[in-house]
Amino acid sequence: MEEINLPTPIESIVFRGHNFYLKRDDFISHDFSGNKARKLHYYLVNDFPHIKKLVSYGSNQSNAMYSMSILAKLRGWKFTYYTDHLSEYLKANPHGNYAKALQNGMHISVIPAKAETQQYINLHAQDEDNNEETLFINEGGRDKEAGFGLEIMAKEIIDWQAASGIQKLNIFLPSGTGTTALFLQKYLKQHGIKVYTTPCVGDAAYLTKQFSLLEEDTSLYPTIVNPPKKWHFGKLYKEHYKIWLELQKSTEITFDLLYDPIGWQVLMANLEKLDGAILYVHQGGLLGNESMLPRYERRFKDGNEDN
Ligand SMILES: *Cc1c(COP(=O)(O)O)cnc(C)c1O
Repeated sequence: MEEINLPTPIESIVFRGHNFYLKRDDFISHDFSGNKARKLHYYLVNDFPHIKKLVSYGSNQSNAMYSMSILAKLRGWKFTYYTDHLSEYLKANPHGNYAKALQNGMHISVIPAKAETQQYINLHAQDEDNNEETLFINEGGRDKEAGFGLEIMAKEIIDWQAASGIQKLNIFLPSGTGTTALFLQKYLKQHGIKVYTTPCVGDAAYLTKQFSLLEEDTSLYPTIVNPPKKWHFGKLYKEHYKIWLELQKSTEITFDLLYDPIGWQVLMANLEKLDGAILYVHQGGLLGNESMLPRYERRFKDGNEDN
């Protein structure tokens, strides 16, 4: 499939005097925005002769929403995306993932405040279309089918490890729904590779709950490392912006502004727990920086310590 470039490269980087390997899933595709291409891989390579429309839901700037708009466009499906919130400002000034998804033909539908999300979607998707023609994908691509693309990614890591002669390998990546981390651990466990992750949305209990929606066997769950303090997803924190700038400066690599600042802060605070080489997964999502970076720049001017 030419939309996806596999395998993605693995590079060596140094940060704060420590060596890391970096899986460049930000290079996976020109069209998709990073790790969602892995989660949606299944829908790119299989045939769905009856499907005419894709339905999903979640936040109005999510990377998953954008990537699904690409998938629908490539496959010639209609795409309806439900969200529980759309500000007047964003409606009048579309930008970031939201604007790009609209350009790809996304139809956005706002769920009324009082309605229950799943119920509302079921009712309306049914009203509008023949159900057999509608493909429903969970928020953030949290579906069993995500395992298809993530098993391929696990194989890339195993092949690379064998070729580079690394004995003991740990993987670290920040989680949203935890789908990526869960499937990686599931397919890498038998190879003695341990996957560590940290919750960026909700807490460890929420993340474990997300794992359980995809896998019953708890022995296949990634190891959760907690953030040093409670950060609210999508909010601006000076420490996030600082480590993002530091990463950019010392590695010359641009990371995403939502997940990676948390991932790197948690990783750096827990290095002694990880025995062996560390592979950090860069999951892309850089399109989202288009809406996050101006917010950060307005709030914390470069070098201004007092904000
Ligand atoms: C979606 C996303 C994640 C989280 O992936 P999950 O599989 O939901 O845990 C992490 N980083 C980036 C850049 C993402 O777009």
